[in-house]
Amino acid sequence: CGVFGAYRIENASSITYYGLHSLQHRGQEASGMAVCDGKEIHVQKGKGLTVDVFRKDKLNQLEGDLAIGHVRYSTAGGQENENIQPIVSKGHLGSLAVAHNGQIVNEKELRLELENQGAIFQGTSDSEVLLHLIQKEKGTLLEKVIKTARRLEGAFSFLVLDEDSIYAVRDRHGLRPLSYAAFKDGYVISSETCAFEVMGIYDSTDLKPGEVVEFKKGLVKKYQYTQDITHHMCAMEYIYFARPDSVVEGINVHAFRKKTGAVLAKKDVGLEADIVIGVPDSSLSAAIGYAEASGIPLETGLYKNRYVGRTFIQPTQAMRDRGVRMKLSPVTSVVKGKSVVMIDDSIVRGTTSRRIVRLLKEAGAKAVHVRIASPVITHPCFYGVDTSTKEELIGAHMNKDEIEKYIEADSLQYMEVEELKQVAKEIGLCVACFNGDYCTPLYSYQKVLEK
Ligand code: 5GP
Ligand code: SF4
Ligand code: MG
Repeated sequence: CGVFGAYRIENASSITYYGLHSLQHRGQEASGMAVCDGKEIHVQKGKGLTVDVFRKDKLNQLEGDLAIGHVRYSTAGGQENENIQPIVSKGHLGSLAVAHNGQIVNEKELRLELENQGAIFQGTSDSEVLLHLIQKEKGTLLEKVIKTARRLEGAFSFLVLDEDSIYAVRDRHGLRPLSYAAFKDGYVISSETCAFEVMGIYDSTDLKPGEVVEFKKGLVKKYQYTQDITHHMCAMEYIYFARPDSVVEGINVHAFRKKTGAVLAKKDVGLEADIVIGVPDSSLSAAIGYAEASGIPLETGLYKNRYVGRTFIQPTQAMRDRGVRMKLSPVTSVVKGKSVVMIDDSIVRGTTSRRIVRLLKEAGAKAVHVRIASPVITHPCFYGVDTSTKEELIGAHMNKDEIEKYIEADSLQYMEVEELKQVAKEIGLCVACFNGDYCTPLYSYQKVLEK
């Protein structure tokens, strides 16, 4: 998911609209906004892309200079309308809205506890648990937010809005990104910095793991809500999820991906190939890095139809199957008769690689050497990225030779976990989906792992 906030910005809804639009790659299932004019919180949300949910007339109805917004990609909770964020509660103590990116692993335990105390939930998302917890705590909103953050385990970067303030919170492991920047007379907050750059903002600050930032009375105040922090930025943000023009923890995503390509090229000394091609869009940076490091020319061997959403995000296998074919076509004149190095960013079920190898061979490629710009995924993610269930993960059941045969590649190579860590050695990465080394207890999800 992606979150965006605007504090003390005139027409906060329109800037939030642009922000969400820039974060659209983080979720296409639903989009929503909660806007406050100092008195009341107005909400607008629905299924689909930001452009479809917010037509011009709808935006105009959302007046105020405070806003938080969300684009949804469902991992926890289903696709029901109740789960579309921001989640808003209008109580006698005032209104609150929450927009959340990540996944809370002790959600079920907290939900049960809240239900036993009489809480009634509308939907099944963990974000609603968050909202209930905040409401139940005592003290100022800052104190409530801090107490809540201390009770949550897992991945979260979330925003809380009330009538006159916004709070931004990041989990103590720093699993999901979250940054803010001064803009005009106020501030903007975003999951990724690419949203700032479209606004002409080139200077921003990352929240630290275990930090709450308060935007209130025109001021920004930072609070470290726990000292018990680690650094586990999700490696998949760099590999696949984030936009190449974003800077995550000081590292540009495109630069990170280029380095992974170079690592792959160094492992391939002596490989005879005519061209390097990337699978658009998320593998293009790695393909550039591979080509630069190997000296093998980069080509456009695959064309992507940009009007089909990210295949993986469509929830059923049947839809995914249809999606992939709609999405990519080989450029026959480029690949015919050639020995091709095909770079993809990740291998999850192996379906994309297998299909693309076939496409390229059908288009006349002499050989297809598949190079994956990450290690093979062997474990499910419980922190907000849909890396699928263990049964579906090809890397959980097959070794490298078996995968190579399955995807019908002439050769297969991917990164080692240590090589991945070296690419961003200045920061700490979460690599749990590659090695099962989760940085938090998993609570009820432990059972999923043991299955
Ligand atoms: P597979 O076909 O092996 O199941 O999935 C790998 C492909 O899915 C890659 O091309 C990658 O770009 C794409 N993909 C789409 N969504 C995701 C996601 O959420 N995580 C990962 N790791 N890859 C994804
Ligand atoms: Fe990211 Fe993988 Fe860690 Fe999930 S398990 S947070 S996808 S690195
Ligand atoms: Mg891809």
